[in-house]
Amino acid sequence: MSGQPGRAYACRVVQILLVEDEPLIASFVSRGLRAEGYSTAVAGSGDDALMELEARAWDLVVLDLKLPGVDGFGVLARAVEADPPVPVLVLSAQNGVATKVAALDAGASDYLAKPFSFDELLARVRACVRRRARAGPAAAAHPLELDLRSRRITRRDGGRVQLSERECALLEYLLRTPEEVVSRQRILNAVWDYQFDPRSNVVDVCIARLRRKLETEAVIETVRGGGYRLVPC
Ligand code: CA
Repeated sequence: MSGQPGRAYACRVVQILLVEDEPLIASFVSRGLRAEGYSTAVAGSGDDALMELEARAWDLVVLDLKLPGVDGFGVLARAVEADPPVPVLVLSAQNGVATKVAALDAGASDYLAKPFSFDELLARVRACVRRRARAGPAAAAHPLELDLRSRRITRRDGGRVQLSERECALLEYLLRTPEEVVSRQRILNAVWDYQFDPRSNVVDVCIARLRRKLETEAVIETVRGGGYRLVPC
């Protein structure tokens, strides 16, 4: 079933790739977006951004232009060429008209100059996501909805299920890697955020709780010797 877009989770958690080499700005923007319920990952260089674009489907890229390695225009070109193209909101200290025109002509959806107001960034992010939702094939996607702010799943039948913080983080992680086998160790590193004893069964326990809560919405398969994989029912 892998590779069939209609079966994949074009999940309702909006996934934003933030490409920013200034750690303070990256952390500020990332925390702000997460507080609004978006799922974010940070790439600190153009090369990292290209890898992230290759690895996963993103709903939006928030892109700095001056980056170590491949610059923002290189990342922009790759995002625009992707299938489907990923919308790009440029967030750059370069506020000259020529740069703005060049970025928009190269396919950027929007351009916001630094310094910026966070409220304006959020409004522009919402606008990009709305346009994407109208254009994309999301209606065919699996209906599992996860609200990161309330940590609730909305099921097909309209029922709501409350998740704990850890269950929510684990499901968010699995939704990012749909139908891919992820090892216990990767889950530990990503969700527990520190090096945990790999013999610990915290992952298995959390998976078991999540399975019960997901019920008919999705299945978390155990892949022998490999790890876990989230597949739609
Ligand atoms: Ca920069």
